[in-house]
Amino acid sequence: MTGTGRFASLSPATGQQLAEYPVHGPEEIADAVGRAREAAKGWARAGWKGRKAALLTFKRALAARMGEVAETVTAETGKPDHDARTEVLLAVIHLDWAARHARRVLGRRRVPSGLLSTHQRSLLAYRPLGVIGVIGPWNYPVYTPMGSIGYALAAGNGVVFKPSELTPGVGVLLARIWAETVPEHAGLFSAVTGEGRTGDALARSGVDKVAFTGSPGTARKVAAACAESLTPLTAEGGGKDAVLVGGDLDGPGLDRAAEAIVWGAVSNAGQTCTGVERVYAVESVHEDLCRRVVRRAAQVSAGPQQSGHGLPDAEGPDAEGTDADGSGRAADYGPMTLPSQLDTVERHLKEAVASGARVLHGGPESVSAPYVQPVVLADVPEDASVMREETFGPLVAVNSVRDLEEAVERADASPYALGAAVFTGSSRAGRAAAEQLRAGMVSVGSVLGYAAVPSLPFGGSGESGYGRVHGEEGLRGFAAPQAITVRRFSPPVDLTSYATPRATAARTVELARRFHARM
Ligand code: NAP
Repeated sequence: MTGTGRFASLSPATGQQLAEYPVHGPEEIADAVGRAREAAKGWARAGWKGRKAALLTFKRALAARMGEVAETVTAETGKPDHDARTEVLLAVIHLDWAARHARRVLGRRRVPSGLLSTHQRSLLAYRPLGVIGVIGPWNYPVYTPMGSIGYALAAGNGVVFKPSELTPGVGVLLARIWAETVPEHAGLFSAVTGEGRTGDALARSGVDKVAFTGSPGTARKVAAACAESLTPLTAEGGGKDAVLVGGDLDGPGLDRAAEAIVWGAVSNAGQTCTGVERVYAVESVHEDLCRRVVRRAAQVSAGPQQSGHGLPDAEGPDAEGTDADGSGRAADYGPMTLPSQLDTVERHLKEAVASGARVLHGGPESVSAPYVQPVVLADVPEDASVMREETFGPLVAVNSVRDLEEAVERADASPYALGAAVFTGSSRAGRAAAEQLRAGMVSVGSVLGYAAVPSLPFGGSGESGYGRVHGEEGLRGFAAPQAITVRRFSPPVDLTSYATPRATAARTVELARRFHARM
């Protein structure tokens, strides 16, 4: 904070100031919500067709300006350009799906009326809620909030977005691209900037729903603020995702599992809500898997990022990129975006070692601000903090279990229940284990397989929060169902009228009772 009503965004790699942004308070937020509410009237008039066209225009603009968005993501988070571009692509895929499917999922439809109500036509419609307050995290500053923003807009709402104070530039840029590409609906989606207090003010601003993504601690504060005005809330919290590895995997299968485990654990410096933090491998393959995980982890490193994506048509003077360390090979992932997260990673690691865990790769020396090199642990006591709390760093614990049943039990013993993955020799066994798990999302034979499937809902339970984004549930989460019945003709016996003789009404009720007592 600068103390002047403005705050600075910093590069996590160098600590250098990137830009300054205003700290928005209740007044500015009320303005933004008011503008969105007004613009929502025009959004409603645009109809399904007009809204779809506008959202697809926005989508094309995001795809066309991927380089510009990714550059801002990389500057503010430190993640590699390739990762930032992949993140934008995922957001684009979700926006495309939401735009194309909103009418099918939310449009008015007839539903069966039932025997007692054959005289009525029954209609189900989903009305927009109004204005949605979206509060986002910094780790995937495009993909994560767009999972709410895109679906909320497609459902007919306005949106006011409060990005993390670590990634304000990304939020402002997303809103600017909207305003530039869909100027006729400019006020419908805007960004407000600031830190936690700005998020709190947004939750209290009279928005019609809050879509929050962040840590469970903050989710509780937001839930408390929303409770005061009965504002509905979707809370996407953290995770402690587990990978289950069956004893029937052969060498190539174990290699595929190891590859996925390392990528799932260390990509984005482990700062992924659905990142791999725990592995439960059946004892017959445990040691072999550990060797393969370590071999793969040893080939991956954190460091400064090259600029540009290295493709021949890359934009800008640095487009061909520079080596991160002069070794000829760029680092695979970047710095810890949130400096204080280094302390959590270090504490989890030290406590694990003190409680008897085996350190297979890396160690306390792997933590060297702002980077953390990959760490692989084994035989970690289940009550250690690294097995219980979200680490949010490139550190993975590989424990051995008797069988897949025990793997499921241990995976489910966490207070978090967000994502999980299963690797088995047969996909049938993998699916069977997946269906036993409490996690909201499970990939069999891969990690995070569900994240790029827009028709699947995303979310978890327990400390991982409640509600869903993405897919049909994600669209319905930003709409209020409205039930309408239309009387088509007079029923033979009208049960909602005093004009019907009591004895006739009673006979009808008795007939219906007998019918249901037998069925
Ligand atoms: P965070 O500290 O909980 O912050 C999340 C957002 O809430 C930020 O915009 C933050 O603003 C804002 N905020 C802070 N205090 C607030 C308050 N009292 N009222 C309203 N808003 C407030 O989380 P983070 O560090 O940004 O993100 C990391 C966490 O997000 C991890 O736990 C990760 O697992 C989780 N996550 C979950 C998902 C999912 O889909 N389930 C996806 C991505 C990340 P400031 O940043 O300005 O303080």
